[in-house]
Amino acid sequence: MAQASFIPHEQKIETFRLTSGNKIPGVGIGTWRSQSPRQAVYTAIVEAGYRHVDTATEYGVHTEVGAGIKEAIQAGVERNNLFVTSKLWCTEMSPERVRPALQQTLEELQLDYLDLYLIHWPFHLKDGASRPPKAGEVLDFDMEGVWREMEKLVRDNLVKDIGMCNFTLKKLDKLLSFAEIKPSVCQMEMHPGWRNDKMLEACKKHGIHVTAYSPLGGKELIENQAVQKVAGKLNKSPAQVLVRWAIQRGTSAIPKSSSPDRMKENEHVFGWRIPDEEFQVLSSIPDQKRTLDGDFLFVNETDGPYKSEAELWDNEI
Ligand code: NDP
Repeated sequence: MAQASFIPHEQKIETFRLTSGNKIPGVGIGTWRSQSPRQAVYTAIVEAGYRHVDTATEYGVHTEVGAGIKEAIQAGVERNNLFVTSKLWCTEMSPERVRPALQQTLEELQLDYLDLYLIHWPFHLKDGASRPPKAGEVLDFDMEGVWREMEKLVRDNLVKDIGMCNFTLKKLDKLLSFAEIKPSVCQMEMHPGWRNDKMLEACKKHGIHVTAYSPLGGKELIENQAVQKVAGKLNKSPAQVLVRWAIQRGTSAIPKSSSPDRMKENEHVFGWRIPDEEFQVLSSIPDQKRTLDGDFLFVNETDGPYKSEAELWDNEI
């Protein structure tokens, strides 16, 4: 596999410009619960033309993702044409642990730098915390201290851009109140079944690019009548319509697939548009629900500090 002799074809993948001046490709390959991450990442890059890989320490796939990237580079793709994102996990969410965590991530991925490093969730967990957490396992989160260390990683050229995931308007305001290097990217769950318009608007206002995670929104959304109807009308698949909807909203999207055919399908979303009327149909689907609420990671209903999903999300439901 590493010896592939063909030149990887270049897809016309649109990019978005970040405040740093760097560009993020509109579609990336997700790696959470990837069945064969090494093969998936290699195939995504070399055969399907992806140039954006989204991973995280928490997914437990860094070594395999790194091997897939290395093989793609050996097959002729240049590192500087790839955009690689990883994320700082909650057990490392204290200032003195940020740099060692990043260094370990680089080692596992066999890379010299990351294009983007994100706070995975704005919460600090004790090492070995249970799911859901027991009393005392959700610790105080020193957001400013952690961000200062993330900023140093940028200054030391270890990461090109920094940002966060799973934020609320309240936490965004707090971060912006002290950030010397503003976040370039905010990664949030977004799809027509959970549009989260307020967060998207706030990020746009501050020049923060949004990446939509879980852009396919689960089986229910792929099978949603309105989505299927728009897909039929445009002669596209429901997944393509969902990824294209994300792009037209100005967000990048990181669909995960372990199937080469579905990877290619999910990325053929350029050079055509969802007309305004159909876009509005997708943007008005009434049922709004997160597929990933974070409860199982951070909520302890009796001991807190977060006793409910609402508290976790600062009551911004
Ligand atoms: P997705 O919306 O990407 O959906 C993935 C599911 O859809 C898989 O079951 C996949 O199966 C299936 N699928 C993929 N393509 C198609 C298609 N064309 N038609 C029908 N089904 C399809 O959800 P994820 O939750 O995986 O999110 C994507 C990525 O976002 C993650 O992998 C991760 O990188 C990131 N993420 C980040 C989070 C964060 O907190 N920052 C949280 C969650 C996700 P198959 O593989 O068999 O094709």
